[in-house]
Amino acid sequence: MGQIIDGKKIAQTIKDELKIEVDSLIKDHGITPGLAVILVGADPASESYVKGKRRTCKALGIYAKDYNLVAETSEEGLLTIIEELNQDDSIDGILVQLPLPSHINEEKILLAIDPKKDVDGFHPENIGRMMIGMDTFYSCTPYGIIKLLEYCDISTEGKHVCIVGRSNIVGKPVANLLLQKHNLANATVTVCHSRTPDIGYHTRQADIIIAAVGIPELITKDMVKEGAVIIDVGVNRVEDATKKRGYRLVGDVNFEEVKDYVSHITPVPGGVGPMTITMLMFNTIKSAKNRI
Ligand code: NAP
Repeated sequence: MGQIIDGKKIAQTIKDELKIEVDSLIKDHGITPGLAVILVGADPASESYVKGKRRTCKALGIYAKDYNLVAETSEEGLLTIIEELNQDDSIDGILVQLPLPSHINEEKILLAIDPKKDVDGFHPENIGRMMIGMDTFYSCTPYGIIKLLEYCDISTEGKHVCIVGRSNIVGKPVANLLLQKHNLANATVTVCHSRTPDIGYHTRQADIIIAAVGIPELITKDMVKEGAVIIDVGVNRVEDATKKRGYRLVGDVNFEEVKDYVSHITPVPGGVGPMTITMLMFNTIKSAKNRI
């Protein structure tokens, strides 16, 4: 059986280290890291993500300034809040939970966040900095994936990594991070997407597959090389009458089919997900340190 990568445990190890950093920021410098967490509307998945982020802030001693805005909030109204937060010295990071209601232009909102407080790493300035290898906030899921690999001693140097999915928040940035010229990267990267004919042709050649598509169990055993490493980013709800809530979560990879065939695999849930929130905390603390 392949090794199951315990994202929850690795995330906890990193959070324990971050808690020590927060304690020392407070004690030695009088700085309490602050994160504004803005939720617009009542999408159940977004509510649950935001709840997790606020809970983790509390556990680490980070001040979470919570905004629960109604779905009818205007774009102008949201921009005004962001402008105030940009000026607020007690706030080190601004997180706007996506997706936003359709009447709000997401791009406009993300551009309005001060890049120095863009702890999600979505601002074009930070994406550009990442691309050319400058210090910046890396977006949380891609950075979480890099950290998972690092903690599991899985080298990417000289490896062929096949990423399925090219979104701005996962596929493209993780491809970029893995292309960087340093020993936690140095990979040869292939990126597949919805217009790629025969995805299996590419994934079968990969030492590491990163699946970030959003289609339940798209990646099957016949698409995987024996002994490969699988990082499954997908979080998909599938109906399950045996569950109280009526559904269960599955990834983009058919876990049961491939788990005995690969060397390492992340489960869903409990793989990449916990790392995403952890890296958000990492970025918030990194930002707070700029106040010293
Ligand atoms: P997204 O923006 O919808 O992007 C999906 C990508 O998959 C697109 O690039 C799309 O191609 C590609 N794709 C769609 N159908 C495909 C197919 N049949 N074959 C190959 N590629 C296909 O999604 P996302 O935001 O990146 O998220 C992907 C998944 O990861 C979702 O399940 C999401 O819930 C999950 N996620 C998890 C975390 C976490 O922390 N665990 C964080 C973020 C996202 P085109 O570009 O051609 O349309």
